[in-house]
Amino acid sequence: MCLPVTRYHEFAEIMHELRIAEDLISIVTETATEEGLKKVAKVSVCFGEMVQIDCGCFEVAFSEFVKGTIAENAEIDIEIIPVTAVCNNCKCDYKISNITFTCPECGSGDICILSGKELFIKSIEGD
Ligand SMILES: [Zn+2]
Repeated sequence: MCLPVTRYHEFAEIMHELRIAEDLISIVTETATEEGLKKVAKVSVCFGEMVQIDCGCFEVAFSEFVKGTIAENAEIDIEIIPVTAVCNNCKCDYKISNITFTCPECGSGDICILSGKELFIKSIEGD
């Protein structure tokens, strides 16, 4: 079978969500067990925009992987954190809305990313 390059790309992207969902669920179930929860009702997560999560794909992977765990049927809440940066030249803060990592004020490429690389669990709710 010969797959076009775009197919590999899509596959790699799907793998990304699957891997993150799998890692995340093992953290959720471990933490919930440690805290004495018998059932997880809701999981809130934060993803930075730079992590490039496909939320739909992630939700599908999540609902599959939680089957048979204490987090089965748990609701998933995803918050996307925008990419923000500060310019080291003119010190202005700004939100990056495209892939141009240069300062909109002075055009300097000497910037420091403040947010957008996050990948963490905000809260786990359950009984
Ligand atoms: Zn600047």
